[in-house]
Amino acid sequence: MREELLELTTALKSHILSERESRSGSSNLCLKREEGTKPSTQDDAPMNDRAIRVPSITLEDIREELGDCKRCKLHGERHHIVFGEGNPRTDLVFVGEAPGRDEDMQGKPFVGRAGQLLTDIIKAMGLERKDVYICNILKCRPPKNRNPEPDEIATCEPFLIKQLEAIQPSVICAMGKFAAQTLLKKDTAISLLRGRFHSYHGIKLMPTYHPAYLLRNPGAKKQVWEDVQMIMRELRQEQ
Ligand code: URA
Repeated sequence: MREELLELTTALKSHILSERESRSGSSNLCLKREEGTKPSTQDDAPMNDRAIRVPSITLEDIREELGDCKRCKLHGERHHIVFGEGNPRTDLVFVGEAPGRDEDMQGKPFVGRAGQLLTDIIKAMGLERKDVYICNILKCRPPKNRNPEPDEIATCEPFLIKQLEAIQPSVICAMGKFAAQTLLKKDTAISLLRGRFHSYHGIKLMPTYHPAYLLRNPGAKKQVWEDVQMIMRELRQEQ
């Protein structure tokens, strides 16, 4: 498995390098916006208007509002709420499904095996985890990693919506069926959703396979790489 990860990383890295070389003079992706550098216009427009870039809420406010959440049944068995982590001023947000055991123990998203693969993918994009923001549809681990249930999604989703509103990324990468279907309000299979951008309130959203799926189906890495390349191209255009 380690070899497969290395193989993916090496392939992604060499592609990025050759892309960079062929675009001599173009800068690396820079997702580390300085404070205050987001373009801002109207501050009263809804989130689906990409003209607005002034967040009306901060991630700290949202975390505070979430508190020691007991809004759904998942609070009973959790060790930690996994709110999300990364750069609050990033252009790129990764959204997964729900914390697993490692994430529940550490209170951080994507730190287990699937998380290691996501970290490798981010590195292969020429980025680091701290350059992007990583979060999930659910903030608490479902027992035995079962699928999220509709009432849990309905209860937790408002906080994710607020996080996205606070960050206002240019691109969202929805990893796996639950992230893609929840955000897009569609029940189309992930295999049909992936491979092209959709609109999430005007933000470009790329559905792709979940890293945990890639661990079980390494053959799907090729498609994820295609999706990731489209994201990278989009981010370059945003510069
Ligand atoms: N899988 C997810 O969807 N999210 C995590 O944080 C970890 C594994």
